[in-house]
Amino acid sequence: MKNMKISIALLLLVTMVVSVVGCGAQETTAPKEEKTSTTSSASVETEYVEIQEMEPVEETETEQTYDVVVIGAGGAGLSAAIAAAEKGANVVMLEQRSVVGGNTSWSGAGMDIPENWVQEAQGIEDSKELYIDDTMKGGDGTNIKELVNTLAENALPTAEWLRDTVGVEFMDDFQKHFGGHTVARAIVVKGGVGSQMILKELEKALELGVTIKANTKAESLIQDESGRVVSVTAQNTLGQDLTFNANKGVVIASGGFAGNVEMRSKYRPELDDSVKTTNTPGHNGDGIVMAQELGADTTHMEFIQTYPFAFPTTGKITFVADTRMYGAPMVNIEGNRFINENDRRDVISKAILSQSDGFGYMVWDESILTEARTLEIYGEEYEQLISDEVLVKADTLEEAADFFGINKDELAKTIQNYNSYATDAIENGTDTKVADKEFQRNAKMATVEKGPFYIQKVIPSVHHTMGGLVINPDGSVKNTDGDTIPGLYAAGEVVGGIHGNNRLGGNALTDISVFGKIAGESAAQAE
Ligand SMILES: Cc1cc2nc3c(=O)[nH]c(=O)nc-3n(C[C@H](O)[C@H](O)[C@H](O)COP(=O)(O)OP(=O)(O)OC[C@H]3O[C@@H](n4cnc5c(N)ncnc54)[C@H](O)[C@@H]3O)c2cc1C
Repeated sequence: MKNMKISIALLLLVTMVVSVVGCGAQETTAPKEEKTSTTSSASVETEYVEIQEMEPVEETETEQTYDVVVIGAGGAGLSAAIAAAEKGANVVMLEQRSVVGGNTSWSGAGMDIPENWVQEAQGIEDSKELYIDDTMKGGDGTNIKELVNTLAENALPTAEWLRDTVGVEFMDDFQKHFGGHTVARAIVVKGGVGSQMILKELEKALELGVTIKANTKAESLIQDESGRVVSVTAQNTLGQDLTFNANKGVVIASGGFAGNVEMRSKYRPELDDSVKTTNTPGHNGDGIVMAQELGADTTHMEFIQTYPFAFPTTGKITFVADTRMYGAPMVNIEGNRFINENDRRDVISKAILSQSDGFGYMVWDESILTEARTLEIYGEEYEQLISDEVLVKADTLEEAADFFGINKDELAKTIQNYNSYATDAIENGTDTKVADKEFQRNAKMATVEKGPFYIQKVIPSVHHTMGGLVINPDGSVKNTDGDTIPGLYAAGEVVGGIHGNNRLGGNALTDISVFGKIAGESAAQAE
């Protein structure tokens, strides 16, 4: 066990440092795989960290006992493990992959926190009530209100815990305003990538003595005669069958089921294998299946979110398309706008898929690119999009339109109209919802007028499964009779009901951190 802890710590120290000044990059040292890139501008310094893979380790004991067993080493699992260890529990984490972090490490690291410190510095007024209201409206009121209240109540204290105790670094002058939120309230982890948060959480977990078993897939849960969950069976990639006993509790934090085509198309037949996913490999709903075998209840399984702005080539999410938050409009192949670009993800996804070619095309100019800090934060992705030929940079709008075969005459008219709405919003202070006479855009507007111009082709991809296990506010799992299953807790995307039928951007990281911490504390304190 000790060897594993040490090897992870060493791997984290092996880094490649890349310094970027303007658009040029200089590599200073380059050990394999793990890398840190640093960009500086007048006001932002960003870092990207990739967590390195771990080799399988042969277990000398196939049955081991801890206080708390956590299944899945993503953001929810790490929050749970740290919180449990802080309460004095001896914790083990089981992670099926060779690398920890799950979807959390790929995330854009935007976390909705009402009344946060960046809002305070920027003079943005917010409240827990407004956040609850936005989250409930985002889910069309189908959310489990009791859990949304817990989310709102604990959002700020949990963010402060991540910042002050765990050591997660957030940008102190930058926020995101995701669709469906009345105000900008998403603080962003430095680097704009969740791997940075995972790195800090991993370091903290190791410092607190948490044992991490990578390459180890949990397979089933075992109850004692009283019905209490007391063990997890697992198999590692060396083929060893293992049992992990839990004196106090088991926390399921295995993420959602976006990668399980059979499971998702059972609930949403149209989400078959023709639709790609934004997720990391291994989101197969294992935790849901394991808990269901013990009679656990599920809810909202049919609520599956597609993310509108993904790479047409791979299905991966594109953060470069965040330019929409800074003014970029979206058009179709006919050159016309067709939706409020900051509408809910389900609404935009549906609108894109109903266009004649099933794609959306984001349009922006150099000043929007600069305002969004695209090259500073997402320079690597930008290059990938260009090389995949799904993003074009051109001196004129016509040239950019020609690259994708967009009707350039219509596009010119569309941008002319859009610019007049944006000018009204900017110069007269008219609310964008009023200024945008066609689509009542509820986000920042900016004119698209000075080259170079950019057009990016996007497609929806399966992103988040809102359904999953039913929990109490203390993270304990309920069975189909509404009773608590003793010894069993769950947190993160494996849980259902918090987001209702539509999760708002930035709300998952809040959810996994808040409920991960709660579940870890509950498990550690279980009698
Ligand atoms: C590309 C992308 C960008 C996103 N950006 C944002 C954002 O900016 N803000 C936001 O709020 N949300 C964002 N989200 C959503 C958010 O990242 C996820 O909902 C969240 O990270 C889920 O956290 P989790 O801990 O529940 O699961 P994960 O982080 O996915 O971790 C689950 C872990 O469990 C492991 N596991 C699964 N089954 C087993 C098993 N049987 N045994 C052992 N281990 C197992 C998995 O391998 C994985 O490592 C984004 C999602 C994606 C895909």
